[in-house]
Amino acid sequence: MPTATTNETEAITEILEQEIMRERVQRLPARLLPPERRLRETTRFTKIVATIGPASEDRLGELIDAGLSVARLNFSHGTPDEHRRRMALIKAASAHRMTPIAVLADLPGPKMRTGMFPDGKIMLKEGDVVRVKPGQAVAEPGEVYVGVEDLLEAVEPGHRISLADGQVLLRANSKDSEAITATCERAGPVGNRKGVHLPDSDVSYELPTAEDRELIKLARELGVDMLGVSFVGHASELEEIRGLAPGIDLVSKIERQAALFNLDEILEATDGLMVARGDLGVELDIEHLPLVQKEILERSVLAGVYTITATEMLESMIEAGRPTRAEVTDVANAVLDGTDAVMLSAETAVGKHPVEAVSTMARIAQVAERSEIYAHRPSLESAPERGHFSRATAMAAVHVANEVDVDCIVCFTETGNTVRLLSRFRPDVEIVALSPRPDTVRKMAVLAHVRPLLFRREPSLEAMIDTAADLLVARRVLQTGDRVIFVAGVPVGFARSTNVLKLHRIGEDSRFT
Ligand code: PGA
Ligand code: MN
Repeated sequence: MPTATTNETEAITEILEQEIMRERVQRLPARLLPPERRLRETTRFTKIVATIGPASEDRLGELIDAGLSVARLNFSHGTPDEHRRRMALIKAASAHRMTPIAVLADLPGPKMRTGMFPDGKIMLKEGDVVRVKPGQAVAEPGEVYVGVEDLLEAVEPGHRISLADGQVLLRANSKDSEAITATCERAGPVGNRKGVHLPDSDVSYELPTAEDRELIKLARELGVDMLGVSFVGHASELEEIRGLAPGIDLVSKIERQAALFNLDEILEATDGLMVARGDLGVELDIEHLPLVQKEILERSVLAGVYTITATEMLESMIEAGRPTRAEVTDVANAVLDGTDAVMLSAETAVGKHPVEAVSTMARIAQVAERSEIYAHRPSLESAPERGHFSRATAMAAVHVANEVDVDCIVCFTETGNTVRLLSRFRPDVEIVALSPRPDTVRKMAVLAHVRPLLFRREPSLEAMIDTAADLLVARRVLQTGDRVIFVAGVPVGFARSTNVLKLHRIGEDSRFT
């Protein structure tokens, strides 16, 4: 009897495993089966933001192939020249792949940090008593510097002082004219320039900081599409930054308690919002994070603000080739909570498996999106701003799309406004968003359900429909006979409200008269 070689055995095992998996899929409860939708295998609705760093700057083409839509430059790290180089690499890869990529420059903001230690770090044990001093200097034994000017005024006995992004916890006992005396309640290492949080203290802070102002100039020079505003607490701060960065989308990072209290005014003043779970998870008792995430995402979608869920989503993939079960579940839950995009930080900036992290995220999102649970998320029909032409047209388009089982919604747009409205309704199919403005096209890359494409202006709606059909067939988005809804504003070529819906079969005569 011929014996199978190791390779053959492996191959047979793999085939058997696939058979078994198929069986299992068929036995899943009906609720989890993909609904009967006309979705292509490659369709994915949720967008992926990846931080570009040393591990990924030379692999941007692969990242785009794996599912990247928004490239993040973290201005807390790296030099201006590094950001310039990365920007050029992003532009080149995006052009080569013919895929619009939005660039998000993330400002450092007033992040409080520890000063320096002679050996680069110290170990604090439970019960250790330390003197916490304002400033950035090098600490003597038994001291910790914290870069907060009004530290001595703001911190009162009983307040918590959290070091190293929440790893270490001190509690203030007393203070004198030079320092706060505090006892260590949660032990751990504290290094140079690690994140500090004072969740109980009313610290005054400046936003934008002087450093932010310089970096906003760099962001404008680079031509970034979005600015991440770290530690925002009030709408007035956004207005000030808006004045310094005209035409750039503002993404408010929700990472302070104040931002939660003032969420309504921030939602009014911002374009996008980031659930910045890293710092937020230290400012809040961490067990509140899952519910706060759900609340922020729900209120954002109602307010018409797009969302990015960030931090530690696939953290273990910085080292490992696959994620943990908890991480997979976290990404899927963010999708089910209604986020537009999920974000990778260190995973792609400095991790060992940047491309796999992106493709893993893409696969997790895709499975979650195809579930009945995702399709049956609560409707937005009671959302405010009723009576607008654009909103009514967008709502009607989504209703019709779900009703007549079209292959996609195609929207012509100058500013992206109608596309943002369409995206909020999360239709069953993709929204192909066509704009003659490259900046509009890039900015739409973050929106869930939206596939943005550059498109030339045409003199009439008929000509737009014909050219769009040709383009989408050529790009293999559609084929002859497919059913489409066109959403447009007439007269064409003006940034004005959307007022036309046209049901169309690709290949059909597009004339109106
Ligand atoms: P950061 O922001 O990574 O720039 O700190 C995100 C977060 O705090 O979660
Ligand atoms: Mn942060």
